Amino acid sequence: MKIRDVKTYILEAALTEPFAYSQAWYERRGACLVEIVGEDGNSGWGEAFGPARLTAPIVEYYKPLLVGADALATESIWENLYNRLRDHGQKGLAIEALSAVDIALWDLKGRHLGLPVHRLLGGPLRMSVEAYATGFYRKRPSGPNNADPFAYLVEEAHQRIAEGFGAIKLKLGFGLAQDLLLCETVRRAVGDGVSIMVDANHAYDSTAAIRLGRQIEPLDIAWFEEPVPPEDLAGYRAVKAALQIPIAGGEAEFTRWGFRSLIAERLVDIVQPDVCAAGGISECKKIADMASAFGVRINPHVWGTGVALAASLQLIAALPHNPPGLHPIEPLLEFDRSEHPIRMAVLVEPIEQRGGRVEIPQGPGLGIEIDRAALARFAA
Ligand code: CA
Repeated sequence: MKIRDVKTYILEAALTEPFAYSQAWYERRGACLVEIVGEDGNSGWGEAFGPARLTAPIVEYYKPLLVGADALATESIWENLYNRLRDHGQKGLAIEALSAVDIALWDLKGRHLGLPVHRLLGGPLRMSVEAYATGFYRKRPSGPNNADPFAYLVEEAHQRIAEGFGAIKLKLGFGLAQDLLLCETVRRAVGDGVSIMVDANHAYDSTAAIRLGRQIEPLDIAWFEEPVPPEDLAGYRAVKAALQIPIAGGEAEFTRWGFRSLIAERLVDIVQPDVCAAGGISECKKIADMASAFGVRINPHVWGTGVALAASLQLIAALPHNPPGLHPIEPLLEFDRSEHPIRMAVLVEPIEQRGGRVEIPQGPGLGIEIDRAALARFAA
């Protein structure tokens, strides 16, 4: 079956309230969705992580290489597209665009064959996955409540627990004193039964990250994510050697070659490739298998729309146990709970959690249907 057409959709929406992580304020959210139409009339859907206005033109650049190609030959297409920009884009935007194409091709293949992607990958190893709640972004101070600057974050923690989540991830990187105070405040508020991860979004150098890590170690932190910049592999090595807390990272890393050092040199305890960034489903399966060989855990990073969530769920359903056994440690799903007007609007049926778990979609391909009216509504 040949590829008939490739279409890109740049979507944008304003947030009702801006929020910040350690690197920037967000006032809008966007998405780059990719539709690949097969000769059989089916459409496969993918998504690129990163700025949609930059990734969409790269998908358009790939288009002449895709139209007329064998739609089911995902490995061959991946190699061809990667090699075309290899000298210019081994990381970043070119790989994010390639990720969207690869996901769309897996969706198309699944629809063509009438099977969910995880079955084509050799799964399922699990039919549902525990989700943890990402959020806890900072908001601008408002009203007279500045005496308790973390009140809205404690409230958010109680809300997520009430929704059924057993694990939450706090945003750090706002200064060591403030980070420590937030961790202490939330741990005190939620008690010992809730898993707390922290994410600095590479706000620190290794010296500061180690100092903070030692201070929050007694609070039973499940992992410390992106303590240092992604390029600072020696920093990762130093942080991991100094702390008891498991170290996580990889959302800003790309392809099997990018993950090679992180995994083979055991610079992290948990790798977090993003299926919409690191090279798609094809590449993330390779990264996962490499992680398995080196005994490193994998919990994919997810921050996109329902397309990204569905692609991540299909991958997670096929991740090998590491190691297998009667009570293996299962991968987790990152379930972003911050405001994203486009996230579920693009799906005919939203992906939801119940009791902190999310079912793996069982329909063909990614197991989702796209609401084309939403694509028009959010078109940039
Ligand atoms: Ca993160």
